[in-house]
Amino acid sequence: MSTELPFLAPSEAKKRKIAVMTSGGDAPGMNGAVRAVVRMAIAKGCDAFCIHEGYDGLVKGGDMIKKTEWDDVRGYLAEGGTLIGTARCAAFRERWGRLKAAKNLIEKGIDALIVCGGDGSLTGADLFRKEWPSLLAELVEKKELTAEQTEGHGNLNIVGLVGSIDNDMCSTDATIGCYSSLHRICDSVDCIADTAQSHQRAFVVEVMGRHCGWLALMSAISTGADFLFIPEVPPARDWKKGMCNIITEHRKMGKRTTIVIVAEGAQDLDLKKISPEDVRKLLAEELGLDTRVTTLGHVQRGGQPCAYDRMLSTLQGADAVNAVLEATPETPSPVISIIENKIVRNPLVQAVQLTQQVADTIARKEFDKALHLRDSEFAEYFKSYLITSSVDQPDLKLPEDKRMRVGIIHVGAPAGGMNAATRAAVSYCVGRGHTPVALYNGFSGLIRHHGDKPLGAVRELTWLDCVQWTSRGGSEIGTNRTLPSDNMDTVAYCMEHYKIDALLIVGGFEAFTALSELRQARATHPQLKIPMVILPATVSNNVPGTEYSLGSDTCLNALIEFCDTCRQSASSSRRRVFVIETQGGESGYVATIAGLSMGAMAVYTPEEGINIKMLDRDIDSLRAVFAKDKGQSRAGKIILRNEKASDTYTTEVIANIIRAEAKGRFEARVGIPGHFQQGKQPSPMDRIRGVRFGVKSLQHLETFFGKTPDEIAADPMSTAVIGIRGARLKFSPMETIERTETDWKHRRPKDEFWLGFKDLVDTLSGRRPPSEVH
Ligand code: ATP
Repeated sequence: MSTELPFLAPSEAKKRKIAVMTSGGDAPGMNGAVRAVVRMAIAKGCDAFCIHEGYDGLVKGGDMIKKTEWDDVRGYLAEGGTLIGTARCAAFRERWGRLKAAKNLIEKGIDALIVCGGDGSLTGADLFRKEWPSLLAELVEKKELTAEQTEGHGNLNIVGLVGSIDNDMCSTDATIGCYSSLHRICDSVDCIADTAQSHQRAFVVEVMGRHCGWLALMSAISTGADFLFIPEVPPARDWKKGMCNIITEHRKMGKRTTIVIVAEGAQDLDLKKISPEDVRKLLAEELGLDTRVTTLGHVQRGGQPCAYDRMLSTLQGADAVNAVLEATPETPSPVISIIENKIVRNPLVQAVQLTQQVADTIARKEFDKALHLRDSEFAEYFKSYLITSSVDQPDLKLPEDKRMRVGIIHVGAPAGGMNAATRAAVSYCVGRGHTPVALYNGFSGLIRHHGDKPLGAVRELTWLDCVQWTSRGGSEIGTNRTLPSDNMDTVAYCMEHYKIDALLIVGGFEAFTALSELRQARATHPQLKIPMVILPATVSNNVPGTEYSLGSDTCLNALIEFCDTCRQSASSSRRRVFVIETQGGESGYVATIAGLSMGAMAVYTPEEGINIKMLDRDIDSLRAVFAKDKGQSRAGKIILRNEKASDTYTTEVIANIIRAEAKGRFEARVGIPGHFQQGKQPSPMDRIRGVRFGVKSLQHLETFFGKTPDEIAADPMSTAVIGIRGARLKFSPMETIERTETDWKHRRPKDEFWLGFKDLVDTLSGRRPPSEVH
């Protein structure tokens, strides 16, 4: 996420009354949005109101529109559903209902409304804004309001936040709730896959999405499903034969399981519904497979929000308040979106119209157009799924003379998503006719020798070898921290000996260093004049050239689980603060984003360091919080300290200082999750991004085919980092990144995109007094 966000831009705001509501279907993360809006509004000197039960509460008014204080939203971030309620409201669809809603708002002095909901809710909100002046005029005319009451409220500010598990809104890559729902689905399919494996069964799993196949597509990618049905891309006319052929082929190769994902809205080219039962019958009758149907239903909606949804809702909620304060009467209502890694504002009306166009386009059978109307990632992910899901794709195969031997190596510590990326790269290679070669156990495995004889742990991989890897944590081909510079001559020799034409390096800062060394060694070792890509994978997210490394999302989810559990353990004693040590090396990314996602009281990072003044101030805040708390707070307080934030103020020392200063009024405990942060299984985001990065990396390596070694070495893109930068996925040349963007001493990027979020953590935790929030 980019720091270009005007979160803390100076505001010339007059004291405003800002209301927030949740509407339409509930989605995990909605509470995080409410918390962020309420606290950001208060921090900026405004009054915050919550409208309970969606538009129903707006129309009914009275107690349904409640002034909300800072402490009222404590503990909201971790809760699923929506704590302020939601409803479908027929009255708001009618002008008389909106008339009552306008009156209720004016009576409380509110003229800014932040709505978190789906496209229906946002359509209603925009209509309300358009009608606002005429509604007020009618209310004055009917003497339900006086002209004085409406003075200064001539415009209604509307800001949209998209809360929906379906991820069906155009103009944003992710809606609040969609990743939590994907977590639920992947957990379920992982469980189903275990039983399918045991009995060699087939499972047809129905997932939500009447008009949008995002959940189905992403769960199919995350779980390595054999076949997929989504509304935007109906299968070919002879799909029954096609599906049976693919599944038969997979079984022949030795695959023991079959998973087919069917979106609720799956249909054929004639818009006839394809039901899970249709698919089951086919698999049972045509292929004789023991096939079961599982309909996941409402479990997909519930549960605690995942780390990403907590972060997204917090960033978007805070930006929504800024959007209100920066709006002029001419500004069109915005919807707060995210494109790749960047929070942006888009015109709400346009986003809603585009979204509604998708359904119309599908109804007109313009499927290709429908696919491209979805977010920027959707069509690309669909292609990645197709390429990596099936072993037999004759139309993808390259001619014999264009095929390469592609080396794949893992370097550094394991990170969630490494295996998914490797599986995708291997599947891509197999599909294209390349030979994927695993260089086991990092560079030390590659250069193993017996006397003069190379004994490298090097082996060609087959599609079947890695068919189950997507959901696995750790590193299936082994990893270690050895760098090529330990024995560059042998590394170069082995590259030639094993006939490696292109190299994919998966890993964190060590992997980045390895690629830098290999690039520089080309001058003396011509065998290294081959194309190479680093695919960043590290929990620390400290690889220059990308704002996102595989494994960092898994880590944040593990950390949040750990902290939620610690907090809960404090619920009986309540007055407890946990000082929790996070990984991250010299980068405070993990600590800061985890702090944002869980509402930590304070975050200590290596970038900022720790000093006694800071501790003093934070202990004062703790005293104040615990003095005020009459037992209403749901749980303990969290302070996150990055492992390298200070040599002096260790986690233990900080806890001891707090304990001593608390003088019995509250207690302090230490929590060190350590390797727990690598996560057991990779999160869905790390899996799907692993697949996308893996495919893209291979496509990049292919572009060098046919070039001479010198031509390759002369092209700066022949050693590149794949990564997300702002709103784009791109490759960046190593040569530039290592020279201009790398802080080698601290093993992190020189400019860390997330640094600005630290202020937001402090603002929303109350650590930063309102007088300092601009
Ligand atoms: P989901 O994606 O979960 O369905 P949604 O926001 O699209 O969420 P809807 O039921 O379509 O859910 O809308 C929620 C509420 O928004 C409706 O009950 C109604 O009160 C209001 N609303 C929807 N469409 C309109 C409209 N065209 N005019 C006025 N109000 C509307």
